[in-house]
Amino acid sequence: MKSQNHLTEPQGNIKVQTAIDAVMKAMRLCEQVQSEMVSTDAIQKTDRSPVTVADFGSQALICKAIGEAFPDNPIVAEESAQALKENASLLERVTGYVNQFCEDAVSAETVCEWIDRGSGEVGPNFWTLDPIDGTKGFLRHDQYAVALAHIVEGIVQLGVLGCPNLPHQLNNRDAERGCLFVAIRGEGTRLYTKTGDFIEQVHVSESVHRFAESVESTHGDSDAHSNIANALGITESPVRIDSQAKYGIVSRGEASLYIRLPNPTFPDYRECIWDHAAGLIVVEEAGGTVTDANGTPLSFLTGKRMHENRGIVATNGKLHQHVLSALSNL
Ligand code: AMP
Ligand code: MG
Repeated sequence: MKSQNHLTEPQGNIKVQTAIDAVMKAMRLCEQVQSEMVSTDAIQKTDRSPVTVADFGSQALICKAIGEAFPDNPIVAEESAQALKENASLLERVTGYVNQFCEDAVSAETVCEWIDRGSGEVGPNFWTLDPIDGTKGFLRHDQYAVALAHIVEGIVQLGVLGCPNLPHQLNNRDAERGCLFVAIRGEGTRLYTKTGDFIEQVHVSESVHRFAESVESTHGDSDAHSNIANALGITESPVRIDSQAKYGIVSRGEASLYIRLPNPTFPDYRECIWDHAAGLIVVEEAGGTVTDANGTPLSFLTGKRMHENRGIVATNGKLHQHVLSALSNL
C-alpha cells in the first residue's frame, strides 16, 4: 500500500497495515472466484442464505492474518467451517483458492482451522469480520464488501471496508472500480483503490439529498423508507446497492442517508455486528452519524447480534435529528 496512512503510533501502524493487507488479499480471492465461478461454488446455509467458496476463502485468509498477528484478540466472523467439513468437494475448491494466496502449501484441515478462528466471542478487545457482506450481490456480479473492524471496549477503532466492484465515483459510469475505505478512530476516513493507491480523504456531504437502501426488499422496509424520504423532502430516487458499500456511499457524500428499518415480516430480526461495525466508523470518521432507528447508539457488546438496537440510520450528521423526528412521527 502506498503511503498516506498518517499513522503516528507504531503499534497502530502494524494493526492497520495487517488489516488492510488481509482485506486486499481477500478481495483478490473474491474476484478470482467470481471470474471462475461454477454453480456448485454456492450453497445454502441452514437459514437459507447463500454462502460461496469466496466467503470461506476470504474468511480463511483474513482470520489467518489477524489470528497470527493478534493471537489474544478473538475474531467474531460470519462463517464457520462446519458446512465445509460436510462437503468434501466444496472444501477442496476453497483449499485450492486459499493456496493461490499463500506462499506455503496449506492443507484442507488448516483452512478449516483458519476459518474457525472466526468463532470467537465478543469481548473487551476483538475483531469482527464479514468475509463477504452482500453475498447475494456477489452472486449477481453486483456490489459486495469485505468488512473487517477492530472493537475495543465497545467502540469501533478501525474499519477496513473493501468494495471490489464499487466505482470510484458512483455517478461516473466510466470510473475505475474497486474501492477500499480505511477509517481510523480520530484520524478520518481514507479512500484507496482496491490495490492500495491513495485516492482521497472522504467527507459526508450536506448538499446531496439522496438516500441509500438495500437491494433486497426483505432486508428493510422500503415503503417506510420512502415515507421518511418524502417527509424529508428527498425527491431523487434511492441508491439501491448491496452490502456496507452503502456506508461508503454516505461517507463520500453520494447519499445523505442510509436507512434500514426492520422489515415487518421479520419483526424479531436483529442486525449482526459484522454487518455494521466497519461501515459505522467509515461514516463517523467522514463526519457523519450512525444510530439505530430510535436514535440509540449501536451496541457491539451484546453478542453477535445487536439485541438492543432496531434498524439503522446513517446520515451526513446534519440530517440525523430530522430523520429521527420523521421516524417518531411515522
Ligand atoms: P444488504 O446487502 O444491505 O441487504 O445486507 C446484507 C445482510 O443483510 C446480510 O449479510 C444479512 O446478514 C442481512 N439480513 C438478512 N436478513 C435480514 C433481515 N430480515 N433484515 C435485515 N438484514 C437482514
Ligand atoms: Mg453480511
